[in-house]
Amino acid sequence: MLRLYDTLTGTVKPVNTTENRDVKIYTCGPTVYRESHLGNLRSYLMADWIKRILINNGSTVIHVKNITDVGHMRQELLERGEDKVIAAAIKEGKTPKEISEYYTNIFFEDELALNILQADHYPKATDHINEMLSLIESLVYKGYAYEVEGNIYYDISKFPNYGALSGNIYSNLIKGSRTEVDKNKHHPQDFTLWKSAEKGRTLKWPSKWGDGFPGWHIECSAMSFKYLGDQFDIHTGGVDNIFPHHEGEIAQSESYTGGKVVDMWVHGAHLLSDGIKMSKSEGNSYTIQTLNELNIDPLAFRYLCATTKYRNRLNFSLNSIKSSQRALQRLKNRIRLIRNQEPNNSETLNNNSWLGEFNAKISNDLDLATGLSLTWKVIKSEIPSRYKLQLIKEFDKVLGLNLVPDQINQTIESNIYSKIEIRSNFKTSEEFNKADAHRQSIQDLGYVVEDTPEGTTIREQFYSETEFGKLESISSSSELSQYPLNTNKYDVTFCLAGSDFTSDLIRCINSIINFTQTTSYQILVLNKISNPELPKFIKSIDQKINIKVINTDHGLGEGTSKNILLKSSEGSIIILLDTSVELTTDISKPISTTLMDQSVGITGAFGLKTTDMHHFYDGANENVKEMDAIQSYCFAFRRKSIQTVGLMRETFRFYRHLDLDYSFQFKSKGYKIVETPNLSLIRHKHRIWESLPDYQRDKLSQTNYKKFLEKWQKHPELLEANQ
Ligand code: AMP
Ligand code: ZN
Repeated sequence: MLRLYDTLTGTVKPVNTTENRDVKIYTCGPTVYRESHLGNLRSYLMADWIKRILINNGSTVIHVKNITDVGHMRQELLERGEDKVIAAAIKEGKTPKEISEYYTNIFFEDELALNILQADHYPKATDHINEMLSLIESLVYKGYAYEVEGNIYYDISKFPNYGALSGNIYSNLIKGSRTEVDKNKHHPQDFTLWKSAEKGRTLKWPSKWGDGFPGWHIECSAMSFKYLGDQFDIHTGGVDNIFPHHEGEIAQSESYTGGKVVDMWVHGAHLLSDGIKMSKSEGNSYTIQTLNELNIDPLAFRYLCATTKYRNRLNFSLNSIKSSQRALQRLKNRIRLIRNQEPNNSETLNNNSWLGEFNAKISNDLDLATGLSLTWKVIKSEIPSRYKLQLIKEFDKVLGLNLVPDQINQTIESNIYSKIEIRSNFKTSEEFNKADAHRQSIQDLGYVVEDTPEGTTIREQFYSETEFGKLESISSSSELSQYPLNTNKYDVTFCLAGSDFTSDLIRCINSIINFTQTTSYQILVLNKISNPELPKFIKSIDQKINIKVINTDHGLGEGTSKNILLKSSEGSIIILLDTSVELTTDISKPISTTLMDQSVGITGAFGLKTTDMHHFYDGANENVKEMDAIQSYCFAFRRKSIQTVGLMRETFRFYRHLDLDYSFQFKSKGYKIVETPNLSLIRHKHRIWESLPDYQRDKLSQTNYKKFLEKWQKHPELLEANQ
């Protein structure tokens, strides 16, 4: 009997699997304005394992996973009238429908790659506007919701149980309520069921209150009613769904039916990356596509998730996925050997104690980690191979790791064995070249031939033996030690942090090479390991140029990226260049001259001045000599000053205002900040900035500005020092 942790009661309780009764599951599905990242997919894997266990135990499962294609992933954005699907459509020059269809298809492919069983229904929000409207109408009729100027709000004071799921009780909510509250609401915590469409909005529908669009929570109430009825067994999602999404859903659904709708709420803990929640906006997300680019089997991610309980947070890194990939391959290699010993067997297992133990473990709140270790134990045990194979097949019905190769793989492998035979004939007839060619063609299929005393066997090539696997990469600056600050190999190090816009990076590198003539210099570039464009370019440039590429295993935060560059630089002067910049002269000379004055800490092309830390303006226009900050386009300092000033703050994941912050670090150590005049360079479009929708720019900039201000407003003397 499967037992799961129910968020509402805070207990592990059994799923109702009475015979002849379907088990109904609803999973909060993807918002399709972008690819799902591995964090999202972790929560779908959790639902998949729940479902597989139930099916394996003989239940019939009805599974609904909604597709949120009217884009309100965050209710607060929706309340401000922002819609991620629309924002993405505008950005990509497509219609919202094109955007959502495109990403829905990618989502289906991702699920397939992870061996996630298909849901019975994938209802789209936009196909269920009528159902939502009639639900909203009924809530208004029953007095749970009210209308103001074409907007409908749910009145949370009418639902005393509001807060039961999340522990966010009414009084807490009042305290925690945000400043910018919709004036139309009776209580600041009331949430939007229907929002009247602003002028010019494309995604909207007619209603008796005028044109508008639905809130986010109402979608899941309406669609769960339609496909699962008034009561169902399990509702799943990630922990971030608990509040406000699921809290809102309970209020809507229960005030509609008058009774309990969901028997059990199951929430998966977050997947982290760099120690914080994986999310697109933090820039720390990985997708199935990233794994494919790195030639990592997506099922290695499935394996990784199985090693950690769904209620525990799991930190993702390239290293962790690599070791999961290796473990999975080793498992499959062992199983291949067993298969070779017992090729055809179809014995059935009944009441096997291994199977009993496996089922007991996984049914205990999804203890898959123990399930995995039992799998290894079976393989290493002394039981006859034919039993082993049968057991593994049974375990894998739940694990879903494709441990026993399917027909396609079996055909590939039997081809390989024929090749091995041909190869051995060539060896016997001493035609070694031909024999080697066969070995190579086997390797090209991703397999390795091993000649052992027991005969020739094959195994899958380990990731560390592949082209990518051999490349080194880092995922945090703490993995590096500082290059000695008192030793300099070059006069100048140009530091560039690559992004998704590699052509900009290449333009910038070319301009350095073209114009930097006399000084001895080094170019240091940070590049995502999955980006194939840069290595091609590097190969094409003059071998005499000192250029070094540091591979990161994913897009790192700005502070981390820059610190990796700072720590790896070997020049006496560091010049950080933004990749949107193109040089048109040799800037290293004038910069070095400015920095000969040891009282100057930072110099660069564009200085900023402030009198209050709130407004920063172009200092050169004001004819001031001393600046308060240098902009990150071109930012230079003596490397040895890191000793006194320290590295950058890594909590700055986004680039904005990190230049102000680091400038103030220099100021606080008594250094002057000055512009170097006439540094001739072109500032092209800043494509990272351009690629962000407005709301995200605002949010990311504000977050960083807060970090800056929190630290430096305590030091007004830094402003007075140079008045
Ligand atoms: P979204 O596509 O953003 O609406 O999210 C889809 C599902 O992924 C929801 O159930 C979220 O709770 C879940 N989710 C979002 N981020 C993460 C994360 N970092 N780790 C685990 N689950 C997540
Ligand atoms: Zn939902």
